[in-house]
Amino acid sequence: MNNDADPDCIFCKIVAGRVPAKKVHEDDQVVVFHDIHPWAPVHVLLVPRQHIVSMAEVGPEHQALLGHMMALVPRLMRELGVTGGFRQVINTGRDGGQEVMHLHMHAFGGPRPWQRG
Ligand code: 5GP
Ligand code: ZN
Repeated sequence: MNNDADPDCIFCKIVAGRVPAKKVHEDDQVVVFHDIHPWAPVHVLLVPRQHIVSMAEVGPEHQALLGHMMALVPRLMRELGVTGGFRQVINTGRDGGQEVMHLHMHAFGGPRPWQRG
């Protein structure tokens, strides 16, 4: 586990390989895996390796990471067979509907109807 990890955080545990997940991509900045409760035919989570709590904690030093996450999604959606468009969502804080307090981007795709979103 790296120094930026929170030992009690479920996404830090997945990043460290201590909790299993259906991973679809890993690089030096992010780990991407299928959501355990998918809302759409394809529903993956892009999780920075670094434990950043939410978008509310983001500063200029995170611009490259966020750009990387945003720009990675089209490639991943293609690789996952999504052809009809997709949706990228980041929930922030209680009122933003964030449940896991480790910054992450949802990427949804596949034929509608979806369960949510
Ligand atoms: P949030 O509401 O914080 O934006 O979204 C958290 C997401 O993480 C939810 O869609 C939830 O299903 C997913 N999730 C929570 N715990 C786990 C887990 O242990 N494994 C996986 N793969 N997804 C999880
Ligand atoms: Zn974490």
